Amino acid sequence: MSNVLAGSEKGEVSAYGWAARDDSGILSPFHFTRRANGDNDITLEILYCGICHTDLHFARNDFGMSIYPMVPGHEIVGKVTKVGGKVTKFSVGDIAGVGGSVGSCGSCSECSEGFYVYCPKMILTYSARCHDGTVTQGGYSDNLVVDQNFAVLIPKSMPLASTAPLLCAGITVYSPLKYHGLTEPGLHLGVVGLGGLGHVAVKFAKAFGMRVTVISTSPSKKKEALERFGADAFLVSRDQQQLQDAVGTMDAIIDTVSANHSIQPLIGLLKTRGKLILLGGPAKPLEVLAMPLLLGRKMIAGSAGGGREEIQEMINFAAKHNITADVEVISMEYVNTAMERLEKNDVKYRFVIDVANTI
Ligand SMILES: [Zn+2]
Ligand SMILES: [Zn+2]
Repeated sequence: MSNVLAGSEKGEVSAYGWAARDDSGILSPFHFTRRANGDNDITLEILYCGICHTDLHFARNDFGMSIYPMVPGHEIVGKVTKVGGKVTKFSVGDIAGVGGSVGSCGSCSECSEGFYVYCPKMILTYSARCHDGTVTQGGYSDNLVVDQNFAVLIPKSMPLASTAPLLCAGITVYSPLKYHGLTEPGLHLGVVGLGGLGHVAVKFAKAFGMRVTVISTSPSKKKEALERFGADAFLVSRDQQQLQDAVGTMDAIIDTVSANHSIQPLIGLLKTRGKLILLGGPAKPLEVLAMPLLLGRKMIAGSAGGGREEIQEMINFAAKHNITADVEVISMEYVNTAMERLEKNDVKYRFVIDVANTI
């Protein structure tokens, strides 16, 4: 039984999770408090939390903006245990999901359209400062207090462990497909990288009825791409002949790779007016020859999550089409080993922590 309602006299919520203490990124048990459940808040008993590659970067301060101690985790699924007086979207007992952000200014143009992820004052789910100065802590913990507007309803019919990664990986691939009109049956989509994001991208694109080619450096992934995820074709990006044969055939490409790599060959794969959408964040600046872009009226774009209604729409679409991530469910104690394996891309295809049963 959760003790989420126990706390100090101010109503603060006692919480227990695993935190990184410094840029070694090593996680260890950590007791902390969360804010009292306000009028617009819900409290979740966290059931599952996915391990996103971003968690690894933040735990090790790769972006230079980490605040320690830090409880990572922004692919959160939990059971609602408390609702504030003004909460209309959730009832106690509902299953809710929380992704990469838990606050924003509420008044800018992005916020007014529900795209708080692009608000200049967006508050990350962990390692960020709230309006009241407190530091946010993520989902590698037993509970979460969150504004109802930053949570979505998860249908109870969904398998919850493999649904958790949809809150970040899922919306990160779904949103740009919608935004760029890449939902039409018959369009040809390239997906670069068959990892946590890539495998979910293939599933959504196939559900939209698109033709999907997985582009990877690893020929060993061909069988899974075609047979497990239903991709139509597989292209080994180091094979010059295969690249040449596919020149000018794709309406768009989703590039999920964070490692440094050349995007020039990808631009060649696009049809005229094709779009290359970057979802990974290589550390090195990209090098691009402008002329192939000009001559083909091609576009390079970026994307980082989705809007409030869009996340709910994505979850509902996933429920309807039986889309979830392929996951390896782990215990909380395994998290440091999981991080090491994640760094080597040794996971099929997302780690998810069984928080409720193992913390
Ligand atoms: Zn993420
Ligand atoms: Zn805003």
